[in-house]
Amino acid sequence: MKSRCANLAEVFSSIQGEGVHIGRRQVFVRFIGCNLACEYCDTHLLDAAQPCRLESTPGRGDFHHLANPVPLHHLTDLLVRWQGGWPGVHHSISLTGGEPLLQVPLLQEWIAALREFLPVHLETNGVLATALATVVRDIDFVSMDIKLPSTTGEETLWDHHAEFLSVAAGTDLSVKVVVNASTRHWEVVRAAELTAAVSPSIPFIIQPETAEDLSVRIGATGLIELQELAAGILRDVRIIPQTHRFIGLL
Ligand code: SF4
Repeated sequence: MKSRCANLAEVFSSIQGEGVHIGRRQVFVRFIGCNLACEYCDTHLLDAAQPCRLESTPGRGDFHHLANPVPLHHLTDLLVRWQGGWPGVHHSISLTGGEPLLQVPLLQEWIAALREFLPVHLETNGVLATALATVVRDIDFVSMDIKLPSTTGEETLWDHHAEFLSVAAGTDLSVKVVVNASTRHWEVVRAAELTAAVSPSIPFIIQPETAEDLSVRIGATGLIELQELAAGILRDVRIIPQTHRFIGLL
């Protein structure tokens, strides 16, 4: 691999706390930078002036720091060590953010090499379809968001989400919508219809927004109503809260 560099916030091992891969152990590579600014986000303000923290022992929280941008050979060395020392522990590598697809020129060179270690899982805000198209052949799993205006405080980019869905359809794809008490029924219906237009079998995850104190910002009845609406359009609609935070993991 060439000595390319990436702007990264952190690299660590944990369980996947959201969506269809919940509970699986993954290597998380968190990219800095995002093209959106969701109200509930706690990561989009990360910037490349801060160092990246890398866990030394998988899952133990013993971090050391490297200046950004991080030469990728550091990550390769880490993956070699983790795969050799903890064989079979990790299910996949999760590229997360921020928005990983903002660094797509880097990914174009890097993803195939990453995939020699483990399957690649992309967590994305689901609007950068053109970038995805250039790397999608080397991605195994895509977990994409459809952003609802009630939770993000932003206008939802429905057409961009629709285009992204069609590009991602060849992967093992799932869709997530974050909801709270302000979420309107029509938003979830529209997101479900967009998803069903690609395939009614795509798993559709309704994730209640979780506050800092781990309370959930929507009542149980509201969640059930949203599930019933989406289930009239799609075959696999699940309510899954963020779980890793409840057991104190990253
Ligand atoms: S898309 Fe994700 S990373 Fe970007 S602002 Fe929204 S929640 Fe944060």
